[in-house]
Amino acid sequence: MCAARVLSDHYDDVTVFERDELPDHPANRTAVPQGRHVHLLMARGANEFEGLFPGLLDDMVAAGVPILENRPDCISFGAAGHLLGTQSTLRDEFTAYVPSRPHLEWQIRTRALAIPNVRLVRQGVAEPRYDPVRERVTGVLLEAGDESSAVPADLVVDTTGRGTRLPVWLEQWGFGRPTEDTVDVGIKYATHQVRIPDGLLKEMVVVAGATREKPIGLGMLLYEDGLWGLTTYGTGKVEPPHDFAGMCDLADDILPAHVGRALRQGEPVGDVAFHAYPMSRWRRYDKMRRFPTGIIPLGDAVASFNPTFGQGMTMTSIQAGNLQAVLRSGDPDIAGRLAKATAKTTWPVWAMTAIGDLSLHNATGEARWWYRPVGGLFDQFLGAAETDPVLAEWFLRRFSLLDSLYMVPSARLVGRTIRHNLRALLSEKVGAVRSSTREREPVPSR
Ligand SMILES: Cc1cc2nc3c(=O)[nH]c(=O)nc-3n(C[C@H](O)[C@H](O)[C@H](O)COP(=O)(O)OP(=O)(O)OC[C@H]3O[C@@H](n4cnc5c(N)ncnc54)[C@H](O)[C@@H]3O)c2cc1C
Repeated sequence: MCAARVLSDHYDDVTVFERDELPDHPANRTAVPQGRHVHLLMARGANEFEGLFPGLLDDMVAAGVPILENRPDCISFGAAGHLLGTQSTLRDEFTAYVPSRPHLEWQIRTRALAIPNVRLVRQGVAEPRYDPVRERVTGVLLEAGDESSAVPADLVVDTTGRGTRLPVWLEQWGFGRPTEDTVDVGIKYATHQVRIPDGLLKEMVVVAGATREKPIGLGMLLYEDGLWGLTTYGTGKVEPPHDFAGMCDLADDILPAHVGRALRQGEPVGDVAFHAYPMSRWRRYDKMRRFPTGIIPLGDAVASFNPTFGQGMTMTSIQAGNLQAVLRSGDPDIAGRLAKATAKTTWPVWAMTAIGDLSLHNATGEARWWYRPVGGLFDQFLGAAETDPVLAEWFLRRFSLLDSLYMVPSARLVGRTIRHNLRALLSEKVGAVRSSTREREPVPSR
């Protein structure tokens, strides 16, 4: 839908072919099974979507989507075993929107399909139509039809998600497959909707990430319908708790105590949903030497990241922004320029999640030599950020992709981290010496 919005400024007619039923209200869809699980919209993604569809954020809030504006007390955010986003570490300017995935999708879909030169055809695409003489894609063949029903197009955008078949077609057309960067994360999700009585929690976003020692995490988000999405997940093929009782036990274990107590007073609604996400995958179209004209991939079809980092929708919105910039540039090599721009915006996020997964989440995959040392440094940084608002803000602004991940911490911030952790280590040591001295002191006799 974001691609359709961008194309509508540059092409006379834009047709979205969608295989799935698209409900005229917010609802889960069969072809997007991940929509049943907690989806966190990063601040950068909210900004990008608003840029494409002005008024979207206000309309979401008017429709009841929680907005956390100047309300750092509403967030409890834990990353890699460190509790970062809390009242004491988040500054007031922190703003977050919390739409459920079906709601966000519906808002965006309604806007995209209202654009006069965008139309929806509810049919699946079987494959692109390829002209080997001109080495270009000339349109698409639909699933329900034969060669005579081919639809001509100047540009085909493949937004079919993780299951894209573009690599297969490229090979058939003689271009070879793109190489792939992968990280075997073995993530398993289980999600319940829960009704928690009003007044028990001031938080609306509660996240506790998995760690190497405890490979199970949990996310709780209060959505526009007043229900909480409660997702537990395991990393490195570990099964998360599936039933409500098990989820409550996990909450007691890894969340602040009052959150676990509130959850126990909640009531699960409907059935539990499951999802398996075996592998993060980045198809390196930017590294292909030859590529046909007339077709581009976008969204998860290019890169899909370990979903527990909550980056996927934001990265898709950023790719749509890249497409807008390329089309505005007027460069005829749309695919080549887009692939390069997307590689540039994808790389730092891919590196951050790969470092997290390979050094903290028991994932397997090709690790660069510097992943582990950088992972160790980040662990130190996050430890200090637990009680230092400046460091917490630095991290959270980059994690939510508001600031560029190409910016490494300045020497001043590294110094602050070292000082902070040395002080903490020292006071721990002094505490230990004091208590052992007390233990050695003779007990006064009566
Ligand atoms: C469990 C889970 C949790 C996640 N949590 C988050 C999160 O917290 N935050 C976040 O930002 N992201 C999250 N993500 C990632 C996010 O869901 C994706 O990044 C995002 O949906 C990608 O959008 P897309 O349009 O590329 O693909 P999709 O949303 O997968 O959409 C693909 C569309 O293509 C259609 N289609 C497929 N094949 C055809 C065909 N041949 N013809 C016609 N139509 C076709 C499908 O019906 C579907 O509508 C999560 C993902 C998972 C798996």
